[in-house]
Amino acid sequence: MNAVPSFDMKRQHEAIRAELDEALRRVVDSGWYILGPEVEAFEREFAAYVGTAHCIGVASGTDALTLAVRAAGVGAGDEVITVSHTAVATVAAIEMAGATPVLVDIDDRSYTIDAAQVERAITPRTRAIIPVHLYGQAADMDALMAVAKAHGLTVIEDCAQAHGARYKGRMAGTFGALATFSFYPTKNLGALGDGGAVVTNDAGLAERVRLLRQYGWRERYVSAISGMNSRLDEMQAAVLRVKLRHLDEWNAARRRIAAVYTAALENVVPPAECAGRTHVYHLYVIRSARRDALMASLKSRGIGTAIHYPLPVHLQPAYKAIAPPTGLPVTERIGREILSLPMYPELRGDEVDAVAAAVRHAIVE
Ligand SMILES: *Cc1c(COP(=O)(O)O)cnc(C)c1O
Repeated sequence: MNAVPSFDMKRQHEAIRAELDEALRRVVDSGWYILGPEVEAFEREFAAYVGTAHCIGVASGTDALTLAVRAAGVGAGDEVITVSHTAVATVAAIEMAGATPVLVDIDDRSYTIDAAQVERAITPRTRAIIPVHLYGQAADMDALMAVAKAHGLTVIEDCAQAHGARYKGRMAGTFGALATFSFYPTKNLGALGDGGAVVTNDAGLAERVRLLRQYGWRERYVSAISGMNSRLDEMQAAVLRVKLRHLDEWNAARRRIAAVYTAALENVVPPAECAGRTHVYHLYVIRSARRDALMASLKSRGIGTAIHYPLPVHLQPAYKAIAPPTGLPVTERIGREILSLPMYPELRGDEVDAVAAAVRHAIVE
């Protein structure tokens, strides 16, 4: 059987090679490499795609979260509620903004934040909630926004895995006061390096993010507020403009592949598509009580898999101090059972069938 790698970015780039070459040449020839016309155009195009008034390009998804938390006026002494079942970046960003992360459990169908657990974790210091739209599926935003509204909390959506995902028809990234995206190469919309963005409908918040991204400068060399350097560069913006034109077709391909997997798999728990949510399958994550044996069996058949994520944030050495004393039972159980199958728009039909067959055979062995 032919090997199926868990990721293969080169396939995507082969398919759009001429467009990428043209975009990169345009930037090289322009003589302008930081915060120029490509970044401005991408910010306009991506804001239009998401449906927000503003988009600010920054250096990474982690920076986007840090700047969003800071722009919301949240920092030292403030608590921000998020999940432990996420990329560590979500939690690291809260700390980089000077605030204290408070980790709560997830819903065991969507693997996203459990609004009832959020409600229980609120203290007088709580200022914000960061739901993570994990694996390409939005969190339960009706329940979460209701909790946030009742307690006067700012919502910042982590959309790093959810470019184009929808909740009741509405685009992920349009619910919170701010939302953040990552353009890490393997994301549904990925650059040829690092990149990120903050989107918002609030002109004041947009202005604060814009200042924070470049030393607090409104006017060059004069810092109006203290900021940092977190800029999206012209090369990445030009690449992202090319890829944004293909995002919907790529997301549709991911959904077709997911449907084939879900119909073919047996004896494992496929991802749940919760009612009213359009999943864009950044990752296709199954669950099995025999996860490690399944992973080894797939590996022996040349099929690449991965675990997102092998150790919840609260169980990692650096985060012992913020681990909830009673643990996070759903997060901990799911962490032992999840497995990500190969998922990218360029997967061929024969490869998808081979992966599904290998999962079926591994389980009956
Ligand atoms: C990738 C990711 C990030 C961080 O993005 P970077 O661009 O790698 O800094 C944050 N949150 C989630 C959920 C992610 O998947």
